[in-house]
Amino acid sequence: MRKKLIAGNWKMNGSLAANATLLDNLRAGGAVGCELAVCVPAVYLSQTQSALTGSSIAWGAQDVSEHESGAYTGEISATMLKDFACGYVIVGHSERRSYHRESDELVAIKAAQVLKSNMTPIVCVGETLSEREQGHTDAVVIRQLQPVLAAVSSRLSEIVVAYEPVWAIGTGKTATPDMAQQVHAVIRAALASVDVHAANTIRILYGGSMKPDNAKELLAMSDIDGGLIGGASLKAADFLAIASAA
Ligand code: PEP
Repeated sequence: MRKKLIAGNWKMNGSLAANATLLDNLRAGGAVGCELAVCVPAVYLSQTQSALTGSSIAWGAQDVSEHESGAYTGEISATMLKDFACGYVIVGHSERRSYHRESDELVAIKAAQVLKSNMTPIVCVGETLSEREQGHTDAVVIRQLQPVLAAVSSRLSEIVVAYEPVWAIGTGKTATPDMAQQVHAVIRAALASVDVHAANTIRILYGGSMKPDNAKELLAMSDIDGGLIGGASLKAADFLAIASAA
């Protein structure tokens, strides 16, 4: 039985004052029946670590360098993130793929770096609207996943995958539960082609305008093992309501 994971992606939002309130409210939310995590801007990792240590909520980052150390101005390595006790690191978010031109291969190297520092990569895949309209959804997610499968094959069971249709991120448009389930099943089959046991244990999250009012039906699908939540993770009540739905 896969334990559901609800992970927040704060993106480039927050301030010391706003985070303090949000983190306090999340902590006060008490135990929920699933795993909870927040992926915060790197500059707030120290604050998040202080606020959440001793709670059941994990924390993590939104990106990582593909390099281990050295002359890479502005980059943050996996070992640095580990210094702040990150449990999770998002890699390959569609905003990184489109605004920073991150390739499938680069995302795979980043996932391997995260594992090397004994954190869990949340590997994001998902198609654009035009790719969906042309019937290329399955091919796109498999293409995005393939280099990751090759790079982390010996530790495949330790990754989390997030299916995030690009057209649903931050738009208020959500994939229907059936649409999402269909792609999740394709992803699980691709994982199974490498390691059947890992495929059964890996959590595949759905992301894209998940909110308290649509979470329950999405999370009821057999291959949807949680959510990667953007906008709704910035309000403790909404984030906790999604967690309750899980
Ligand atoms: C995301 O950025 O990963 C995301 C799913 O955003 P939103 O929930 O706002 O669509």
